[in-house]
Formats: sequence, C-alpha cells, structure tokens
Amino acid sequence: MVDVPEDMPELAAQAHATHVVVVGAGIAGLVAARECAKVGLRVTVLEAQERLGGIVETADVGGGPVDLGVTCWSGRTGAVDALVGELDLSDDVIAPRDGGQWIAGLPGGAAAPMPADSIAGIPSNPWAEDVRRIVGTRGAWRAYVDRLRPPLTIGQERSLGRLVTHRMGRRVRDLIVAPPSVSGFGVDPDDIDVEAVAPGLSAAFTRGGTLSGAVGQLAAHERPGLRSLRGGMTQIVDRIGAHLAQLGADVRTGTPVTSLTATEDGRWHVETASAGDDPAARGESAPVDAPPLEDAHAVIVATDEATARMLLAPLTGISTASRSRHRDTVTLVLAASALDAVERGPVMHVVPGSRAASGLVHESARWGEAHGQVVHVWFDRADGAGLARDDADVIAEALAEASALLDVPLGDGDLVAAERRVYALSLPAAALDQPAIRAEARRTPAGLAVIGGWVSGSGLARVVGDARAEAERVRRSVLWGAEGASNAGSR
Ligand SMILES: Cc1cc2nc3c(=O)[nH]c(=O)nc-3n(C[C@H](O)[C@H](O)[C@H](O)COP(=O)(O)OP(=O)(O)OC[C@H]3O[C@@H](n4cnc5c(N)ncnc54)[C@H](O)[C@@H]3O)c2cc1C
Repeated sequence: MVDVPEDMPELAAQAHATHVVVVGAGIAGLVAARECAKVGLRVTVLEAQERLGGIVETADVGGGPVDLGVTCWSGRTGAVDALVGELDLSDDVIAPRDGGQWIAGLPGGAAAPMPADSIAGIPSNPWAEDVRRIVGTRGAWRAYVDRLRPPLTIGQERSLGRLVTHRMGRRVRDLIVAPPSVSGFGVDPDDIDVEAVAPGLSAAFTRGGTLSGAVGQLAAHERPGLRSLRGGMTQIVDRIGAHLAQLGADVRTGTPVTSLTATEDGRWHVETASAGDDPAARGESAPVDAPPLEDAHAVIVATDEATARMLLAPLTGISTASRSRHRDTVTLVLAASALDAVERGPVMHVVPGSRAASGLVHESARWGEAHGQVVHVWFDRADGAGLARDDADVIAEALAEASALLDVPLGDGDLVAAERRVYALSLPAAALDQPAIRAEARRTPAGLAVIGGWVSGSGLARVVGDARAEAERVRRSVLWGAEGASNAGSR
C-alpha cells in the first residue's frame, strides 16, 4: 500500500531532495532525464562526449545542417511524434518525398526496385514482375511452392530467414529478404523474429496456410510511415537540453562515468573520470571546478551496450560481452547534376557480401529538403575490422560505392564535403535474442535502471517510448517507494 502524503508541498520538497543521475545523454538518457526533472526531482546528466545526443547528431557539412547518424523515425509507436509535439517542433516535421527502396548487388551486378507488395521483403505474389526480375523464373517457381506446401505453424519457426527459405527458397531469402535486414539492422534474417518484424503475419499465415497469402492480407493495411525534421534531428536534442536547463538539471558534458557502487546508506556512488585523467578520455571542456557529485537515490544507465555492461557487471553479474556492432557511416555532400536524374533509390539495400557497403540513402532525393545532394553510405565491418582506417580512405571508398550503387559517375571533383562517424549499432527489437538481452539487462537492484537502444531494441520509436516508461517507474519508485526500481522477474 502506497503512503500518499496529503501535503503536496512536502512532496515537492521530497522530490527536490531526491537526486537522480542519468549516465549518457543520447536520446534515451535525455528523454528520461526530462521526465524526472519535470516532476521536480534533482537531476544530473553525465555525458562522456562534448555534445549531447549520441547517435542523434546534426553538423554543418558543406554549408548547411546535415544529419550524420539518425535521420528519421518511424511513426509506428507514436512515441516520437508525441515528443516532437511537446517540444513544439511539429511544424518542422517532413514526410519522404520519395519512399522508393532498391536492392543492389544482384547477380551480374544488377539492381532492381524492392517488390512493391512485400513485408520485410517477403513477396505476396511470387509471379509479380518485380519479384521475377530479382529471383528469376527458377526462383519464382521455387517461391510458388509456398502455395502448394502444407501449412507450417509459426510456433515451429520463429526465424524470418529460415521460414522464408523453407517456404519460398534461398533466392527469395538471399536476394529480397536479407538485403533490407542487413542494411537496416545489421542482422542476418535467420536471426530476426518474424512476428516482431511483421506483427500479425503468424496469425494470417495460420489462418490462410500460405506465407505469400498472409503477406498479401497484411500488405493491404496501411502502415505508418517515416518522418524527419527540417533543419536536422538535433533540434530534438537542443530543445530537451534547453528544457532541462529551465528545469534546473545539472548537465555535464565531457564527463565519462567510470564506475557505479552501492553505498551503505542505500544510495549510489557515481565515479567519473577525474580532472587528472587523460583529457582525451575525459573531455577537454569538462568543468574542472564542477561541484562534487552527490550520491544518488537512483541511477539511470543510458549508454551504449558495451559501456552499460562494463558499469553493470560488478553490480548485477551481467556478462560484459556485447552483441552490438559498429556502423561506419559516411555522409557525402555532393554537387553532381547527374544525381538529379538518378533512377535508383533513394534507399539502396545491398545483397550481403556483394559489395563493401551495406547500404546507402540518397537523403536529398528522399526528403527533397537538403542543401546540395546528400548521400549516406555505411559499412558494417566484421569485428570492427577497418574502424581504425583513415577517414580520407573510408570517404574515398564511400564515394566509389555511392557511384556504383546509384549507377552515376561520381569523382573527387563532385565532392563538396564529407564526414565520417563510427556509431555503436544495437540489435533491433526484432532480433531473436533481443528479449533475452533485455531481461538480462533489467535484472537490476533497486534504484538502478537501464535504458537505450540495446535494451529496448534500436530505433527511435522504441527507444523514446521505453525511456519514458522506465523514467516513470524510477520516478514512482523514488517518490512513493512503489514497486522498487528492481524489476527482476517483473518484465
Ligand atoms: C548509424 C546509425 C543510424 C541510425 N539511424 C536511425 C534512424 O534514422 N532512425 C531511427 O529510428 N533509429 C536509427 N538508429 C538507431 C538509433 O540511433 C538508436 O536506437 C538510438 O539513437 C539510440 O539512442 P541511445 O540513447 O540508446 O544511445 P546513444 O545515442 O548511443 O547514446 C548513448 C550516450 O551515452 C554516452 N556514453 C557512453 N559511455 C559513457 C560513459 N562512460 N559516461 C557517460 N556517457 C557515456 C555516449 O557518448 C552517448 O551520448 C541508427 C543507428 C545508427 C548506428
């Protein structure tokens, strides 16, 4: 039974005396910090880098704002739309001008549009011209076997890749289903949960008995689209940062957290890299005279997976082995008139193993908003191989890949500016082992919460909703003592 104080000023004072530390100021940490600060909790945000936002990063490249990491969000959960509305940014929301998706690296180096009637790449009609163009007549015949085979219940096969191989054959799996899975999520389709990536497909399959028929039923329903922000996604970060300042939160950049320990009086001691440490690790602008950090009543860990595991391992026994990969991303700003008339794209998925790049988005063609021609090219290199390579080297490789993938001549003379970033890429919620990772991460003692793409499943739509829900749980726990922040076994 929760003891509700009658005297609300007393509750406000209690809130102000309650200190919550948020470790990491990516979108997850910022959303959670704002939720806590809103109700009057004393919030400190500690961010390792010199800027807020994590993978949400907009920079001036070639004379205007360009998103380098996150470029858009899915309207699927409504969580980001709600946030953008609260931050008074709705007038700057834009929808894609061209939502076209293509597959490159097909046999013989060909490229073709993704089949129009498909879900997660699974076609609804194996004989459709846009399917046959990719898998050939032999592949279409094999896919048609799906219509003749006795049904298989999805309960027996949760893997998207294996299900498609079984029902429609390897060519559909390798040439249509694998490219968007690997270029979008960095995950092989065998490791994707079909029900998570296509909710409702299993029920439709069980009802109708064929996979292509199930896709046909679901594809008929409208799915929520993508949105972006005119002027760059970092506006979300800037607005939350300003809101946090108004609410009196203490936001410290250049302050990496190195350890968390439980104190004897039930609080959390948060250790940061100190003034004497290597400035490169610590951040040049870390306030040398920043007030000492008070122990916290609750800590919300909102970093990338590897760092979160390092911080949590001594407290929870969680494994330090991270499943996240790295995505080596190059943003090219080009002045090439040939790009105005390009036929392919704007999204290019690549058949895994056929080229160096995993994918490309011709952003200016997609949104019609950017200054100049903006193209993103990314590489998912096994075990981080190549991450230490020179920026100039990787940018030259990205330019060559852009030229090949879009089938337009592009050379150094067309390049106005370029930026390279390496970001940690978390598993999507649709990954088969993601629920286990989430459960493992959330086995935390009271007063300790974990959020971020690696726990919720990557993608702003999930990260934002999850950060809000966890912050609400922490808020309740520190203010009312309800439920405790420990969630072992509760989710
Ligand atoms: C290249 C790329 C493009 C993407 N594009 C999209 C997209 O267009 N749309 C979409 O919906 N999703 C996209 N995603 C997925 C999406 O970015 C993530 O799900 C989301 O941005 C992750 O936010 P986060 O707050 O969990 O993590 P992050 O943004 O990684 O934030 C973690 C923060 O913790 C900080 N930190 C790390 N260690 C410490 C420490 N020791 N102490 C203090 N701070 C620390 C980091 O510096 C960072 O700021 C993309 C992912 C990648 C990799």
